[in-house]
Amino acid sequence: MYSERTEASSGWQGPPSSSGYEETFRDHYLVLGGINQGGFAQVKLAVHLLTGTEVAVKILPKIAQIFPFIMSELDIMKAVQHPNVIQLFQVIETLENIYLVMEHVTGGQLLQYIPRDSGMQEQEARKVFQQIACAMHYCHEKGVVHRDLKPQNILLDAQSNVKVIDFGLGCRFRAGQKLHEVCGTFPYLAPEVCRREKYDGPAADVWSLGVILYHMVTGELPFKGTTSEQQQQILHARYEVPAHLSDELRGLIRQLLTLDPKQRPTVGQIMGHPWLSQGEEYSPSDSSEPLLNPPNPTIMRAMVDLGFDLHDTWVSLQKREFNDEMATYIILQRQITQGSGCTFQVNPLHLRVRRHFSSAKSHASEPALGSTPSVPSEHQLPDEDKQTEQKGGRGASLPAIPLYSLKMETQPLLITPHQVPVGPPSTEGPSSEENSSTGSPHESLHVIV
Ligand code: ADP
Ligand code: MG
Repeated sequence: MYSERTEASSGWQGPPSSSGYEETFRDHYLVLGGINQGGFAQVKLAVHLLTGTEVAVKILPKIAQIFPFIMSELDIMKAVQHPNVIQLFQVIETLENIYLVMEHVTGGQLLQYIPRDSGMQEQEARKVFQQIACAMHYCHEKGVVHRDLKPQNILLDAQSNVKVIDFGLGCRFRAGQKLHEVCGTFPYLAPEVCRREKYDGPAADVWSLGVILYHMVTGELPFKGTTSEQQQQILHARYEVPAHLSDELRGLIRQLLTLDPKQRPTVGQIMGHPWLSQGEEYSPSDSSEPLLNPPNPTIMRAMVDLGFDLHDTWVSLQKREFNDEMATYIILQRQITQGSGCTFQVNPLHLRVRRHFSSAKSHASEPALGSTPSVPSEHQLPDEDKQTEQKGGRGASLPAIPLYSLKMETQPLLITPHQVPVGPPSTEGPSSEENSSTGSPHESLHVIV
């Protein structure tokens, strides 16, 4: 059975208007505007009020149909941490919605960087594809498959670094486990998934990587014509690799788009491919698991200055709770690792509020954290300020002020009318020309089987 991943079919009217975000969200974030609208989710640009940092917020309505996918996306996003995979900061659950607060990637979708007529230069494409491969190698090693890899789910930041997003159709797998859900986005679907066979998740991702690479370097999809024609081409791995591409690149595309998933290379294997390993070697700027263990004493000191309780912060990090404490810690940590000699930014109004609220909490014992200072003295907050704050939002318009200057010494059930039903091929769909950077017709699909 197929059903559409659209608001209309879900009966969902969209998240609340800008003034109507639930209080638990408004306490910490101010929405500045929309970034994009997915099938069920809306992605908004917001400000983390305490630090003045811009974040992206994916708002997922708690609809029974998609709840398992939301839970799976959440589970994966909490588990993964890699410089080329989107970083989750905080999860806020309200009665009606789940807010996934994550890093804001400013450069837009990879799709926008692919010239339609000619595709990207090989050298440029290599740099991007190396990072995509690096991210997916990490995910597969960690037992996570994406299952919806496409240029719309790959973002580039201001430094042209790749960030893989949207684990909405992703899942965890054990070595050797076969998956059976037919899901993904049609032109990127592996033949074995189209055939509704049980399939190896990582191998299906590798096929999608092949379609992406082909698209990047030619500006068009490897499978052409109507959707049913495309489907036949996918099922038989029939495509032409343009002669003007280098031999190495042509070889790599052929390997990725190998019909038999057992013969298809793994991401780890393609990373050593001559085309991919040419030129400057790519090594991610951060190590893969740099985050919270043990907590950085300098950041912990800043957390205390921001009014957070040391014990609560420590527990939040240990348990990876993705709450207010953890979000602020990660944001501060990123300010350090991504800046050279970092200046922590903090919103002065929110600093006073945090200190006020933290005074209400007390703990008998604090974890031993070396030289971390005791919690600073409380600052009474005038009632007026409290009210302003609790209404949310206004603080964000205040300029952030430097708190510390530091130099670190160490340390869906879903198919749209555009998509081909992966069964009896009949529906006519759009051609690759119809791709656009925002409302692409190539939306994710999922099938209940
Ligand atoms: P969906 O599951 O509805 O496809 P996505 O997670 O793919 O939702 O997000 C939809 C779009 O929103 C993306 O294609 C991208 O354009 C934008 N987007 C999502 N996350 C971010 C982010 N962290 N930073 C910037 N833009 C984002
Ligand atoms: Mg998406």
